[in-house]
Amino acid sequence: MSHEPVIALAGNPNSGKTSIFNALTGARQHVANYPGITVEIKEGGSRAGGVGVKVVDLPGAYSLTPYSPDEVAARDYLLEQRPDVVIHVVDASSLERNLYLTTQLMELGVPVIIALNMIDIAEMRGIRIDSAELSSILGVPVIRTVGNRGTGTDALLEKAVAVAGSETSWVPIDLSYGTSSDRALAILERMIVNCGLLADVAPPRWLALRLLEQDSHTIDRVERLDTDGSREILDTAGKLAEQVFREMNDETEGVIADHRYGFVAGVVKRVRTCPVENRLYFSDRIDRFLTNPVLGPVVMAAVLFGLFQFTFMISRAPISWVESLFGWLHVVAWDLLPRGFIRSMVVSGAIDGVGGVVGFVPLIMFMFFFISILEDTGYMARIAFLMDRIFRKFGLHGSSIVPFIVSGGITGGCAVPGIMAARTLRDTRERFATILSVPFMNCGAKLPVYALLIGAFFSSNEGTVLFGLTILSWTFAMLSAKLLRSTVLRGESTSFVLELPPYRLPSIRSLLIHMWERTWLYLRKAGTVILLASVIMWGLMTFPALPEELAEGLSGNQLAQASLSHSIAGRAGRIMENATRPLMGFDWKVDVALIGGFAAKEIVVSTLGTAYSMSEVEGGGSVSLSEKLATEEGWNPVMALALIVFTMLYIPCIATIAVIKRETGSWGWAGFAILYTTGVAAVMATLVYQAGTLIT
Ligand code: GDP
Ligand code: MG
Repeated sequence: MSHEPVIALAGNPNSGKTSIFNALTGARQHVANYPGITVEIKEGGSRAGGVGVKVVDLPGAYSLTPYSPDEVAARDYLLEQRPDVVIHVVDASSLERNLYLTTQLMELGVPVIIALNMIDIAEMRGIRIDSAELSSILGVPVIRTVGNRGTGTDALLEKAVAVAGSETSWVPIDLSYGTSSDRALAILERMIVNCGLLADVAPPRWLALRLLEQDSHTIDRVERLDTDGSREILDTAGKLAEQVFREMNDETEGVIADHRYGFVAGVVKRVRTCPVENRLYFSDRIDRFLTNPVLGPVVMAAVLFGLFQFTFMISRAPISWVESLFGWLHVVAWDLLPRGFIRSMVVSGAIDGVGGVVGFVPLIMFMFFFISILEDTGYMARIAFLMDRIFRKFGLHGSSIVPFIVSGGITGGCAVPGIMAARTLRDTRERFATILSVPFMNCGAKLPVYALLIGAFFSSNEGTVLFGLTILSWTFAMLSAKLLRSTVLRGESTSFVLELPPYRLPSIRSLLIHMWERTWLYLRKAGTVILLASVIMWGLMTFPALPEELAEGLSGNQLAQASLSHSIAGRAGRIMENATRPLMGFDWKVDVALIGGFAAKEIVVSTLGTAYSMSEVEGGGSVSLSEKLATEEGWNPVMALALIVFTMLYIPCIATIAVIKRETGSWGWAGFAILYTTGVAAVMATLVYQAGTLIT
C-alpha cells in the first residue's frame, strides 16, 4: 500500500477513545474527557507487525448528524480524510446509545472495527454481551477491551492493521427506514448516482439519507455546488421530505432515527443479557433526588461547599511545608551567595517568585483530585444540569459553574485551577468566555489586599463589606461573560442536550492520572514562564540601582523605599500617576504596588509596605500599615474602594496569564485578557472614585 495506514478512533464521549488511543500509541496524553480540546484532533504513531500506522483520536460524537462542534469535526474528518479503518469504541455498559453511532458509521460504509470497551464495568453489573454474535450480525470484527488498562488493545491494533492493509472498499449497509422513507431514498439515490453528486465525498445512499433528513450541513454543501443537477436534487429532497412528513406525521429525521433505534434495539436484544436491576435504573432513582428542583440545589451547595472547605483544610499543612521549604531555601541562598545583585535576584526574584507559585501545588492537587471524583462518578453532569438555566442567560454553560467556584466563587479560590477546570466545556466560545471571566472572582491572593484596606477604612462593618465584595465579583464575572458572549465571542449557545451518564465508581488510577497531569502542567509553567517573569519583575523593581551618594545615610526601609522609587517600576509609577491620580485617586506608590501585583496580588500589600516605608513586623505588618494608610494624605474610603475594585478586576497574576495562554493555545488571548481585565478595572475604579467623590 502506498501510504501509512490511518486508523481513526470514533465513539461517544467518555466511551474510552482517548484511553485506547494512549494504549495504542503509548502517548501520555489526556485520559480525561477534555472535549473542548479534543476538537483539535489528536494524532499519534504506532507499529504492528513491522508496519507503521497513524492513529487518530476523533472528538466524541453521538451521531453523524451533528449537533455539536465535536460531532461536526468527527464527521468532517471521516468524510474528508477517509481513514483506512475506523475503530469504533463502544461503551459496553450502555450498548443502545453507542450502537446508534455504529449504524451511522456503517451507513457511511467506512470499514469499521468495534472495540467493545468498558467490558469490565459491564461484567461488574452482570451484563453479558455475546461479541461473536454481535460481530456476525453487524458483519464487522468485534474486540473486547478495557481501555484504561490496555487490555485487548494489541489484538485491536493487529486487527485494524489487517483490515487497513486489505484495502477494503467502503460498503455502506442498507437499513430499512420504513416504506415511505425507503421509496423516497431510492428516488434520491438514483438521481445522485446519475449526476455523480459529491461522488468523491460520500456514498450516494448516505447523501440521500442526509438530504432526506434535511441535514443543514449537507444541504449547504450541495447548495454550494450550484449546478442544475444539485439544485434539482435539493428541490426533490425537500418535496420528498415533506411527503414523508405527511405520510408519517413526523419529521423524516425522527422517522429515520426511530428505525435506527429499532435496528439497534433488535441487535441488542440478540447479543445482550442483563439483570433486571441495571445501573440506569439505579441512576434514575438517585437522580430523582439529586436533580430535583428543590433538593438538588441544596445538595449541590452542600457538596461544593464541603468539598471546598475540605480541600482547603487538608492542603493547609502541605502548603505550609512547601512554604517553609522555600523559606529555608531563601535563607540558605542568602547565606551562601555573596552580597550583591546576583544574591538579590536569586533570592527575591527566583526563589520567592517561584515559591509563591509552587505554594499552590498542594491546593491544585487536592482540588483536582476531588473534581475528578465529581466528574468520574457522573455527579458533575448533574451540577451542570442544575446550573444550566441560570448560566445560559449569561451566555455560559452549566459546566461553567465549576471554574467559577474554584476561582473564588467561595472566597479563597484560585483562578489557575479554575481556568484549567474549564476544560469540561465543549463549546470553544463558552469555554473562552469562562476563562476570561473567572479572573474577576475573589481569589485567595486578593484577600490580604482587601483585609488591609477594609481594616484601614471600613473596620466598623468588615463582614458586610467582604460579603459585598463577593457579590460584586460574581456580578462582574457574570456580566463580563455576557459582554464577551455578545461581542468578541458572539455565537449561539450550544444546543445539545446535557447528558446525564449513569453513576459509576471512579477508578483510583484514573483519578490519580487526572490529578497528576493537571498538576504537572502547572509545575512546568512555574519552572519556566513564571520563573522568567518573576525575575523580570524583580529587575523592574530593582534597576537602575540607587547611586551611592543617594543611598548615603539611608538604611533599612528608607533605603528600600528610595531604591524602589528610583527603579524602572518606580518611574513607571510616577508616569502613571498623571493618569491615575485624577481618575482614581492613586498616587505613584499605589501604582508601583499595582505593578508589583502582576507577579502575584499579595505583593500589592508588601510593596505598599515598602513604598510607605513601614517596617514589616512579623504578623502585624498589615495592621500597622492599615493605621498608617488611614491617616495618609490622599487616602480616603472612596479611594480605598476604588483600589479594592481595581485589585479585584485588573490584570490577572503571571500564573493565571500563563495558564490562559496554555488553555487557549494563544498569546493573543492571553494578551487580550491583560488588556481586557485592566481596561474593565480602570473604567470601574474611575466610576467608583468619581461617583464616590461627587457624593461625599
Ligand atoms: P473519551 O472521552 O472517549 O476519550 O474517553 P476517555 O478515554 O477519556 O475515558 C473516560 C473515562 O473512562 C476515563 O476515566 C477512563 O479512565 C475510563 N475508562 C476508559 N476505558 C475504560 C474501561 O475499559 N473500563 C473502565 N472501567 N474505565 C475505562
Ligand atoms: Mg477523549
